[in-house]
Amino acid sequence: MAVRVIPVDPFDLVIFGGTGDLAQRKILPGLYRRFHAGQMPAEARIIGAARGDMDEEAYRAVVRESIATFVSANLCEAEIVDAFLAQVSYVTLEARGTGGWKELKGKLRNDVVQAFYFSVAPSLFADIAERLHKNGISRPDARIVVEKPFGRDLQTAQALNKELVSFFDEEQIYRIDHYLGKETVQNLMAVRFGNVLFEPLWNSQYVDHIQITVAETVGVGGRGSYYDKSGAMRDMVQNHLMQLLCLIAMEPPNRFDPDAVRDEKLKVIRALDPVEPSEIVRGQYRATASEPGYLDEVGDPNSRTESFIALRTHISNWRWNGTPFYLRTGKKLGTRLSEIVVHFKEPPHSIFGEDAGGSCNVLTIRLQPDEGMTLSVTIKEPGPGGMRLIDVPLDMSFAEALGPENAEMPDAYERLIMDVMRGNQTLFMRGDEVEAAWRWTDPLIQGWEARGERPKLYKQGGSGPEDAQMLLHRDGRRWRELDP
Ligand code: NAP
Repeated sequence: MAVRVIPVDPFDLVIFGGTGDLAQRKILPGLYRRFHAGQMPAEARIIGAARGDMDEEAYRAVVRESIATFVSANLCEAEIVDAFLAQVSYVTLEARGTGGWKELKGKLRNDVVQAFYFSVAPSLFADIAERLHKNGISRPDARIVVEKPFGRDLQTAQALNKELVSFFDEEQIYRIDHYLGKETVQNLMAVRFGNVLFEPLWNSQYVDHIQITVAETVGVGGRGSYYDKSGAMRDMVQNHLMQLLCLIAMEPPNRFDPDAVRDEKLKVIRALDPVEPSEIVRGQYRATASEPGYLDEVGDPNSRTESFIALRTHISNWRWNGTPFYLRTGKKLGTRLSEIVVHFKEPPHSIFGEDAGGSCNVLTIRLQPDEGMTLSVTIKEPGPGGMRLIDVPLDMSFAEALGPENAEMPDAYERLIMDVMRGNQTLFMRGDEVEAAWRWTDPLIQGWEARGERPKLYKQGGSGPEDAQMLLHRDGRRWRELDP
């Protein structure tokens, strides 16, 4: 089954921070892959912008290097790379100054889609927005793409939103959460709303509980000083896990349209109950004989920032009344995985007797690695041993189901950048969504700061602090193990 590639309209895409880590690892290789697939048209132009003083040839060399490093070699045919680089240019520009803006304006066309990617520190967003506007560079239909973190609390997010909307309409602002660009995340909506099978069961009558896990095996590494000001709640829960929670829990929108989807997601966030201190477990990975611990990596023995968090929350509405949602994310855990696990309830009455075996159905939606879904189903154990029940997985790996020709699925950034060019905001966060997420998160953070709580230490390579296991044990439930 070949994936259909529909080219987007010609565009001018300016990447502020075009020499930075994100541009080199994700944005530029992603654009190249879309070019290679025939989705980025030959009339499109990419303009890198940063302070670094270099000419266009030097910038093309940077882009060539990033393609060679981050795109698989089988997609790097010399003539295709050269054709892509012919569409790339550069302007030296100071976000907070006056230099470079006139040159940038001179490079833009009037008759193509116009997009500006703010791949720079959030402290520069307002400066760039203002200069694009005041220098008459951005058109009223221009699109701006902004990266996370979008604020560090409600107040800063509101201030940032206010600054951006003073120069751009909400319809022009694309706030990226790359989790929303993942194939499985979009499949979550297709599965829920494209089949009759699941939706009638998708409520507290049939669902016992839902677990959302985003586990990493890496530590904070070189990002220690940045991460220590943020922590797992701000860095992961407020955005990525919250978005997954919204998609799994929201009501069916009346159509697949940006505002209809985002209205429903917003209702979920607004319906989240406050979380009690006893429902939150925070942790920091401890040092081993050979590996530094969290405190060593951030260089502050007194840091109280969490590298792990697990919490239980509830959604106060008819559909989910009484169904707990358990969220967990952390670094230096035993396995790298992102998944949503829907545990259904047991059948109301077992006709096979208590000891027959078998348990409840579990739907596992894997975001990484190996995007796909597994539904555990109870069947009869084969053989003549009487009616014994066992659970077997109905397993669907998207890579296998869609065939080897689709092994190179577009990554989240590619997909989202193409959505920007199409003017489709469905998979981008709206300003009120981001603010509502902070409104729920802020009191939790303020609570543990006021209580002066220290995160619990946990061993590297496991499932996080023991207390996180207890969070579910006390409810008679278990997390999926994260041991390698
Ligand atoms: P980075 O590696 O530090 O790159 C920053 C870029 O901005 C460089 O190209 C830099 O080039 C340019 N820049 C800095 N100050 C400037 C100024 N005053 N005027 C014009 N250009 C300026 O940062 P990054 O990791 O790519 O991150 C970019 C944004 O993406 C940040 O908001 C970050 O939070 C977000 N983000 C990054 C990642 C990631 O994996 N890296 C993931 C998620 C979100 P010059 O120094 O030459 O000006």
